[in-house]
Amino acid sequence: MDFSLSEEQHLFRKVVHDWVENECPKNKSRDIEAQEFEYPFELWDKMSEAGFHAVGLPEELGGAGGDTVTQMILTRELARSLAGLTWIFGISSFCAKSINAFASDPVREELIPKLAEGRTKVAISVTEPAGGTDLMGAMRTRAVKTDGGWRINGQKIWSTAAHVSDYLFLMARTEDSPEKTSKGVTLFLVPNPSEGLSTRQIPKLGMRAVGSCEVFLDDVFVPDEYVVGERGLGFYHMLSTLNNERTMVGALCTGILDGVLEDAVAYVSEREAFGRKIGGFQILQHYIADIAMWRQQAELITYYAAWKADQGEDCGLEANMAKVVCSEYAGRAADLGIQMLGGMGYAAETNMQRYWRDARLYRIGPISNEMARNGIAESFGLPRSF
Ligand SMILES: Cc1cc2nc3c(=O)[nH]c(=O)nc-3n(C[C@H](O)[C@H](O)[C@H](O)COP(=O)(O)OP(=O)(O)OC[C@H]3O[C@@H](n4cnc5c(N)ncnc54)[C@H](O)[C@@H]3O)c2cc1C
Repeated sequence: MDFSLSEEQHLFRKVVHDWVENECPKNKSRDIEAQEFEYPFELWDKMSEAGFHAVGLPEELGGAGGDTVTQMILTRELARSLAGLTWIFGISSFCAKSINAFASDPVREELIPKLAEGRTKVAISVTEPAGGTDLMGAMRTRAVKTDGGWRINGQKIWSTAAHVSDYLFLMARTEDSPEKTSKGVTLFLVPNPSEGLSTRQIPKLGMRAVGSCEVFLDDVFVPDEYVVGERGLGFYHMLSTLNNERTMVGALCTGILDGVLEDAVAYVSEREAFGRKIGGFQILQHYIADIAMWRQQAELITYYAAWKADQGEDCGLEANMAKVVCSEYAGRAADLGIQMLGGMGYAAETNMQRYWRDARLYRIGPISNEMARNGIAESFGLPRSF
C-alpha cells in the first residue's frame, strides 16, 4: 500500500500553493467573494495563464494531461484560500472532462483547446425548479427535434456561472420513458447567448461572486452537432461527470479544512486570555486536534476516490462517501473555527465566516447528503427507500 504522492504531484502541489499565495491569498479571496454578482473575470484569466483549466485534458487537444489525483490536488490547494470560489475552476474542469469523453470529434476538436486555454467557459444546467434530488422525476425541460437541430423549452435553476458561460451543458427530456425516468433524456451544449435564452442570478449565502442562476429557455435552437453523447442516454453519460464533481467537492472541502486549521492555529497561538495564549487551553487544543483528524480522513477518502477513478474503476460509492464526509467535516471545522476566534470569527473581516458559509452548500449540492447516503446504503443490498 502506497499513500504517497508522486514527485511530480508534490512539485505541482507546491507550485499551486505558491501561486495561491501570490495571486489570491485569503484576504484577496475574501474581498473578491464580498463583491456579490461581480464574477471574478480577473481570477479566471489568471487561472488560464497558469494553465489550470488544461489539467486533466488530453495533450493532443491542447490540454496538460494529468490524472484525477492531480485535478484534486489543484482543487484542494485553490480551496485553502478560495473556498467556494474554487468552483469557478471546478465546474469548467469536470464539464470539460465530460465533453471530452462524450462529445463528437469535431466538437471536441473545436472546444477542448478553447476550454484548456480558458477562452471558453461552460456551466452545468441540470437542476430544475421542481426538484434537484428527484432530478429525473422533476425534469420538465423538453427538447423537440427540428430541421438541423433541436428546440428547447423549459427552465433550470441554480446553474452556477451560467450568466457568464459560453455554453450550458444542459440536460433535457427528448422522449417520454414511462418505465424509467432516467431514460429519454439527452445532453446538449447550448450556446450562450442564443435567442430565447436568459438568466437571472439568485442572491445567496456563500460563494457570492460566482452567480448561481435561473435559466429560462424559450424555444432555444441548438444545432445537431451540439448533442453530447447518445440521444436518450444523457443520464447515464452524466454519471461519470457526477462522480468527478463529487470527488472534487471532497477535494474542495479538504482545502477548506486546510484553511480553517491554518487560521485557527495562527489565531489561538497569538490571542491571549487570563495572561496566557488561548492555544494553551486544553479544550481549544482538542478542537484543533479534531479538525486535524477530520482533515486527515477527508484527504484519504478523497484521494482514494480519485485514485480509483484513475485505475479505470467505478468510483461512484467512494465519490459519494468523499462528498458526504468532507462536506460535513468542513462545516463542523469552520463552525469550531468561528468559536475559537470568538467575536472575530463572526466578523466579515476574517475568513472563518466565509469558510463556514461556503462549506454549508456542499451538504446540499451537487447531491444532498441524504440522497448520497441513500446510495451508500443501497450499495449494501438494502432496498431503495424512495
Ligand atoms: C449555490 C448552489 C449552486 C448550485 N449549482 C448548481 C449547478 O451549477 N448546476 C445544477 O444543475 N445545479 C446546481 N445546484 C443545485 C443542487 O444540485 C440542488 O440544490 C440539490 O441537488 C438539491 O436539490 P433541491 O435544491 O431541489 O432540493 P430538493 O430536491 O427539493 O430536496 C429538499 C430536501 O429533501 C431531501 N430529500 C429529497 N428526496 C429525498 C429522499 N429520497 N431521501 C431523503 N431525503 C430526500 C433532500 O435531501 C433535501 O434535504 C446548486 C445549488 C446551490 C444551492
